[in-house]
Amino acid sequence: MKSLLGGKGANLAEMCRLGLPVPPGFTISTDVCTYYYKHHSSYPKSLEAEVLENIRRIESEIGKTFGDPENPLLFSVRSGARASMPGMMDTVLNLGMNDKIVVGIANLSKNPRFAWDNYRRFVQMYGDVVLGLQPINPNDADPFEEIIDKLKAEKRIELDTDLSVDDLKFLVQEFKYVIKARTGKEFPTDPMKQLWGAISAVFGSWMNTRAIKYRSLNGIPDEWGTAVNVQAMVYGNMGTDSATGVAFTRDPSTGENKFYGEYLVNAQGEDVVAGVRTPQPINKAGRKNTEDITLESLMPIQYKELTKIRSILESHYRDMQDVEFTIERGVLWMLQTRTGKRTATASLRIAVEMQESGMLTKEEALMRVDPEQLNHLLHPTFDPNADLKVVAKGLPASPGAASGRVVFNADDAEEWAERGEDVILVRIETSPEDIGGMDAAKGILTSRGGMTSHAAVVARGMGKCCVAGCKDIFVVYSAKQFVIGDKAINQGEWISLNGSTGEVILGKAPTVEPEISGNFTKLMEWADSIKRLGVRTNADTPHDAQVAIQFGAKGIGLCRTEHMFFQEERLSAMREMIMADNPVWRKSALAKLLPMQTEDFIGIFEVMDGLPVTIRTLDPPLHEFLPSRVELMETLLDLKLKLKDENDLTKLNALLKKIRINEDLLNKAEVLNEVNPMLGTRGCRLGIMYPELTEMQAKAIFEAACICKRRGVDVHPEIMVPLITSKEELIHQKNIINKVAREIMDKHGIELDYLVGTMIELPRAALLAADIAAEADFFSFGTNDLTQTTLGLSRDDAGKFLPYYVQKGIYKDEPFQKLDQAGVGKLIDFAVREGQKAKPAIKLGICGEHGGDPSSIEFFHKVGLAYVSCSPYRVPIARLTAAQVVIKEEREN
Ligand code: PEP
Ligand code: MG
Repeated sequence: MKSLLGGKGANLAEMCRLGLPVPPGFTISTDVCTYYYKHHSSYPKSLEAEVLENIRRIESEIGKTFGDPENPLLFSVRSGARASMPGMMDTVLNLGMNDKIVVGIANLSKNPRFAWDNYRRFVQMYGDVVLGLQPINPNDADPFEEIIDKLKAEKRIELDTDLSVDDLKFLVQEFKYVIKARTGKEFPTDPMKQLWGAISAVFGSWMNTRAIKYRSLNGIPDEWGTAVNVQAMVYGNMGTDSATGVAFTRDPSTGENKFYGEYLVNAQGEDVVAGVRTPQPINKAGRKNTEDITLESLMPIQYKELTKIRSILESHYRDMQDVEFTIERGVLWMLQTRTGKRTATASLRIAVEMQESGMLTKEEALMRVDPEQLNHLLHPTFDPNADLKVVAKGLPASPGAASGRVVFNADDAEEWAERGEDVILVRIETSPEDIGGMDAAKGILTSRGGMTSHAAVVARGMGKCCVAGCKDIFVVYSAKQFVIGDKAINQGEWISLNGSTGEVILGKAPTVEPEISGNFTKLMEWADSIKRLGVRTNADTPHDAQVAIQFGAKGIGLCRTEHMFFQEERLSAMREMIMADNPVWRKSALAKLLPMQTEDFIGIFEVMDGLPVTIRTLDPPLHEFLPSRVELMETLLDLKLKLKDENDLTKLNALLKKIRINEDLLNKAEVLNEVNPMLGTRGCRLGIMYPELTEMQAKAIFEAACICKRRGVDVHPEIMVPLITSKEELIHQKNIINKVAREIMDKHGIELDYLVGTMIELPRAALLAADIAAEADFFSFGTNDLTQTTLGLSRDDAGKFLPYYVQKGIYKDEPFQKLDQAGVGKLIDFAVREGQKAKPAIKLGICGEHGGDPSSIEFFHKVGLAYVSCSPYRVPIARLTAAQVVIKEEREN
């Protein structure tokens, strides 16, 4: 039903079925949208008659007539795609008004102000959405608001509600005049013409820039199309017995099981969402200060009815709902329900609590949490002990900690972020046009709007930190600054936002690691009880290993030993090794590295007590350990220039020595220089050219393992040889490793269980997997290199064209982020089957970046790998995904 009626339409139909009060209406299906785009913006022949028939049905249902000045029926026309796209497409309210009908409404309602205010709103919305009168530049004011502000300034009034009937009449005329003057379009007076204009505008808005951007950010296919919902209007602005609001059946920030929402008396829906007036909490639980007037106290009967509807909807949908409601002269109407967007914390809590209350099974609860969302939970927060300069406080609209440079519009946010800057987007309020900038920013700060304002809702959905409605700040777009008291903060200055407290902090605030909640632990335990795929981590230090263990890693799948050589003292020993011209000198340099490397491994084995640790022998080309050639040439030039002015003989000698050393380094760098180092002397090729290197690393591993075992640590080393293309390469390295292992074990009188395996990260290795498996205890797929070499893309350079490829749809996804299942996946699948045929007990894993990506994890599960290995912070994502894959599989069977 959702695919045809869209989310909004399907849910409206569902609410009708549940007997809830929904204003009568009809939905034009997404099929019509598809037709519209395929047939040059035209409609199927039968549509006109069907629309008319439905209008007649509604007319007879509520006893009003569309276009009749005596007793007019007005419509809302809204978009509604299959997946929720909040605010991305267009809406027109109060449709069906003209100069005659407004008089009819004024007479009927005995409330001319109400009639003219609606007419003003209609002309404004229709003028914007259908006739296209909009700001030209991002920093321009809205043309309609400009006219209203000008009038308010002339009349010296502050609020829209202070505008008189004559003011509203003036605004309607002025709006129509400006629309005609700037767009050349006449405002249609025929209600039927208005309706078709609005329907076309809604269909047209499916392809507007912000909707396209939202879809690409959220993986929604363009083919889905939107439905159009036409519904009889109900009014929250009919006086003080009327109201409108939005509510969540649970708290969308924390997930707490309390009814949560905001409303405005005597207002229309867009007033709440747009954040123009600051809404009030619906109940005591949501009160932020004592002056707040709740719906619960103001309209207790309607509030009670709303709470009943809350529980009907929750038990029907078995999920947290986000509803819109209107109270027209004391009568409650439900305008919308949909699955509510929530923070990661809320998502976890809701899933766990709904399971505990018996509403969901464990499997259903696990499926409710988006693995990627977990990312937000596991990231740092501001250090509570730091001395933070809190300068303002707004609403804690979306939790998290963010620091960045201030920008004032979405385009700047995107541009700055592209150059690698962290930015905070500061706006008076956000609108759907800002979506790209909000996505690019680290955090969002607005001076207007409530907890359900556009900024708040969208930020929560994105898992992005947001402080909304911060009244302490005054934003001046034209000056690119905001002012707090007497302090001005200009574009480019650093601020930090705490989305959990609403605090705005000057400068870049220090952060601390996150704490893991009970709900998180519970959900992860459920995941572990279901998943079959093992989850290990890529870690090079005891600290990373420790973090990964806390996140539930069951072993190290890749320890990149080269990362251990980059510290100052080690680097000089490494350089000495590289500069050595013969094996004897090389061995003596390596002897200096041996104890350091042994210490590293002891640290890691201790942390990973009882778990497997895969240690890879040196992989990158040696020149990476030397300064760059350009750097060396510059240093030499500097040193030589200094010679000229040096008169002191000792200092001269010291300079000459430095010059000699740097010249040697430069010579070596020239020798090692490769045009394409990624395909050069790296991986096992290094250990084959310099067997002493592998020997030293093997010694360090087995020494560390024996020492640890003697201390009672349960060690399981797995030594991994990188970048092989043939079994001969593996045999060469394995012989060295086994020989060293024997010597060290004999020396200590200790026997160790260890494995020697290899990475499969070149196409030839995958193709010859059967051959190689005979020599390997395990395979670990290095999907980074395998992607690079299968697609013929350089990991270092592909960034120049890959985004373009993805944008143009030539590649569906970035192949270094999501595994190219059709190509690289085929090689993996082949290697798995061949490897298992040759050696059924062979252990299979993957340690490329794809090990932390949900869609790739699903593939690795299906292909039959035993484990994935990913960075520590992605371990929970992998655990949850691995469980979801099993649940999906069971559901399919
Ligand atoms: C790989 O190639 O996938 C891999 C894990 O190794 P690295 O990224 O270190 O080349
Ligand atoms: Mg690799």
